[in-house]
Order: sequence, then structure tokens, then C-alpha cells
Amino acid sequence: MTSKPDGTLRPGEAAFLTAAIQAARRGLREGGIPIGAALAHNGRVLGTGYNRRVQLGSPIRHGETDCLENVGRLPASVYAASTMATTLSPCDMCTGAILLYKIPRVIIGENRTFIGAEELLRSRGVQVVIVDDPTCAEMMTEFIAAQPALWNEDIGMAD
Ligand SMILES: [Zn+2]
Repeated sequence: MTSKPDGTLRPGEAAFLTAAIQAARRGLREGGIPIGAALAHNGRVLGTGYNRRVQLGSPIRHGETDCLENVGRLPASVYAASTMATTLSPCDMCTGAILLYKIPRVIIGENRTFIGAEELLRSRGVQVVIVDDPTCAEMMTEFIAAQPALWNEDIGMAD
């Protein structure tokens, strides 16, 4: 099943994805899974995060959740006017966090290697933009080929 793009990037939003990609690369250098995220508000990146399951031995530090944790507590009104950029289609857990905080717009670097709960996001009124960025896809393709067991663990699949 492939998902077709249902939106395009607005001016300035490419920088949000770039910040997420940089975070993902940091994770890769640390021996982690190369998935990164950035939270932006009023055209500015508030903070970034990256998957740190390996680094921290954490079951919940995905790119998006690590990003939310790094940014820290925000008023509901800020989340409600924010955009989350993530290098990979968000999993069920991260989708839940996006819905909980009512983040209205999600920019997804790629969904070729994994399709998360995009339909759930859309069904709850979240704008989903699939960029289909080759850099993001290449990063995950290479990682999955090199570390299949680690990847399956990340998405809750049997090894
Ligand atoms: Zn996730």
C-alpha cells in the first residue's frame, strides 16, 4: 500500500525537514537508528530529536517522542499551531503523541521503507505532507539492510 502525497511544503518548511535529517544523522553516528524529527512553530524550529532506543536503552525514544521530550512542556496553544517534521512515517506510538498534543501538521520525509499511522492522522484532521525525500529513504534503506533485527525491534515486529 502506498500513500499519495496530499499536500506540499510551504515556504520555509523544507528547513524543518533538514533539521530532522541532521538529527537522524547524529543518531546514526552514535550507532542508533537514523530517524529524526523537528518541531516548528511560527516558522522557527523549537527543537529536534532522534531515535535513541539503542543509545539510551529506551523503548519509547523514537525520533518524534525524543523531539517532544527535548523541546519540553509547551502550552496547548503552541502545540496546536506547530508542525512536526519527521524523516520517516510516524509509528502508532508517535502518531498517538501527535494526536494527544493536537499538532495539526506533519511533514514526512519518506514512507517508502515504512508506513505508519498516516491514515489515522488524516482521519483526525491532521495535515500530512509526504515529501518523498531521497536522502531520507536512502538513510533508512541502508540502515534496514545493515541492521534488520534492530529495525524490526523498533517497529514492534518479531525478530
Ligand atoms: Zn515512533
